[in-house]
Amino acid sequence: MNGPANHGLTSPVSQGNKGEEMPPATERPRSGSQAEQEPVAESVHEVPASEATNDETTRDATRRGTVAVPSTAITRLRISQDNPPTREMGVRSAARRFSSAAFLTSERYPNLRRGPYGSLSNSHVNTFERILSSERVLTNEDDVAPYNIDWIKTVCGQSKVVLRPKTTEELSAVMKVCSESRLAVCPQGGNTGLVGGSVPVFDEVVISTSLMNRINSVDGISGTVSCQAGVVLDKLEAALEPEGLMAPYDLGARGSCQIGGNISTCAGGLRLLRYGSMQANTLGIEAVLADGSVLNMMNCLKKDNTGYHLRQLFIGSEGTLGIVTQAVLQCPIRPRSVNLALLSLKKFGDVLSTFALAKRTLSETLSSVEMMDSVCMTSVGNKLGLKCPLQSDSDTFFMVVETHGSREDHDMEKMSCFVQEAMDKGLVVDGITSNEPSRMTNLWQLRERITESLVKDQYVFKYDITLPLPKFYEAVEVLKQKLESFGSDVQVSGFGHVGDGNLHLNVTAPAYSDDLQNAIEPFVFEWTSSVGGSISAEHGMGFKKAKFLKYGKSPEAIRLMRSVKSSMDPLGILNPYKVLPPS
Ligand SMILES: Cc1cc2nc3c(=O)[nH]c(=O)nc-3n(C[C@H](O)[C@H](O)[C@H](O)COP(=O)(O)OP(=O)(O)OC[C@H]3O[C@@H](n4cnc5c(N)ncnc54)[C@H](O)[C@@H]3O)c2cc1C
Repeated sequence: MNGPANHGLTSPVSQGNKGEEMPPATERPRSGSQAEQEPVAESVHEVPASEATNDETTRDATRRGTVAVPSTAITRLRISQDNPPTREMGVRSAARRFSSAAFLTSERYPNLRRGPYGSLSNSHVNTFERILSSERVLTNEDDVAPYNIDWIKTVCGQSKVVLRPKTTEELSAVMKVCSESRLAVCPQGGNTGLVGGSVPVFDEVVISTSLMNRINSVDGISGTVSCQAGVVLDKLEAALEPEGLMAPYDLGARGSCQIGGNISTCAGGLRLLRYGSMQANTLGIEAVLADGSVLNMMNCLKKDNTGYHLRQLFIGSEGTLGIVTQAVLQCPIRPRSVNLALLSLKKFGDVLSTFALAKRTLSETLSSVEMMDSVCMTSVGNKLGLKCPLQSDSDTFFMVVETHGSREDHDMEKMSCFVQEAMDKGLVVDGITSNEPSRMTNLWQLRERITESLVKDQYVFKYDITLPLPKFYEAVEVLKQKLESFGSDVQVSGFGHVGDGNLHLNVTAPAYSDDLQNAIEPFVFEWTSSVGGSISAEHGMGFKKAKFLKYGKSPEAIRLMRSVKSSMDPLGILNPYKVLPPS
């Protein structure tokens, strides 16, 4: 048993999502994406392998290198000579120090009130240390800091403790303590979430699943994998590869995001178009509930109609109903041939016509259809040094189209015919096709690293909406018009999974401003709802969108959501302030 606690202080400070370079968080894999980038080689049409210049390594045709998202930038408040930490300083003084931080969620949202939760005491910390051992209870300032701030640096909490269980039993014991003392908790996976759901708002206890990283089994015949929630997506891919399987989804954050986080956000990603949603592909779940009880639904079966599909409650509920500890995923066969096209187009109407053509001509092989506008392409060029190899101007749109199949010659011919037909019809201005793994990795980076480039050296307001396709790019144009008076420092851009009708709408500005935020919100949600769209396509509601839930759900639906929440978490300790609006 450990002696009485003398816990360090934690004071993350950031001005918002300006791109200060940060020390790497210990568990966050750093990506090749942070390395110096050579430009994507300039070339038109077929790309010889020798031109692949980027230093990302690609392990096979479907894994696009080890693209870990860069760790969150944090400027840490250094302990000053006037205020050195002493053994007497407990968690209360830590809270005082936090409140002097330059940017905290509670300050940026001053109307927000802390819920009626217990406060962390040294006795709690000692109990957690008994359950987990002291190494897995982080209270030191520098250790806790990365867990308080989100990846795009838009929210920053004031937690004083991070708990890192390895097993379901440990997590269950931790939740029993939290429930008894009404301590609020914030479950955290890879902390790549983009809606402020993964970090505390006030002083919630952070429960990190990073050490719950065991892959239990891979079944190559039935095509399933069973694993703990903290397995990083990239690691899961590596375990599936020898069995000829792959994960049913893929995201740019694959080097850091975890299976539990993916399930809890109902992540979509780059190949949902082909392989379906998280709801369809999650066969089994184990979760720890608010009172510490364990709900074991680790089903491996494709069919199970025994009443309510309870596992669905944990998919997309963002840690507000339980903490996912293990899961079983259905995994498709890894394709033997992958082909990719990068295309440039004159107008958005041509993007939609090209998508329709891709569905007709690439049919069963079509796996990804992505788009980005010229602001995004310029951003990855200017901020990350990634050069687009296609002809373009300031109005150009770009598409990435990928196919997965089993016969290389057949699939390659299909892709070439598709691009040729799109050019003959005047839809596509310029294009490149490739089936060479490292070249495809390089081309994908132009799309996958847009968010990273937009966050660099500026503030980004990010929106993730689904729209009826004819309205897809209108969202960018309407918002541009609305924000015209803010001048040219404020830029509106769009990219996303056009194949799923999912637009990532971004407003970048030199710094955060209340005026700008108030001009965008709730306007963007009202507009989206008015055209029949969804205000959250795949990122979830988190903290930042919770108060706008009414634009996505009817009053009856919100009432039912509240009643599910209060039945499963009567004390409201699981990820408070997230998903549901304040009542
Ligand atoms: C570069 C980049 C690209 C991205 N691309 C995509 C994309 O294409 N598609 C997409 O959908 N998202 C994308 N995202 C967003 C993000 O990666 C996903 O939301 C991802 O699923 C989050 O996983 P995570 O492990 O990082 O979860 P976190 O960010 O740690 O948490 C997300 C939410 O889930 C909760 N949570 C985490 N783990 C658990 C658990 N075990 N049990 C219960 N609740 C839990 C947290 O409390 C939080 O509310 C991207 C993010 C980045 C930075």
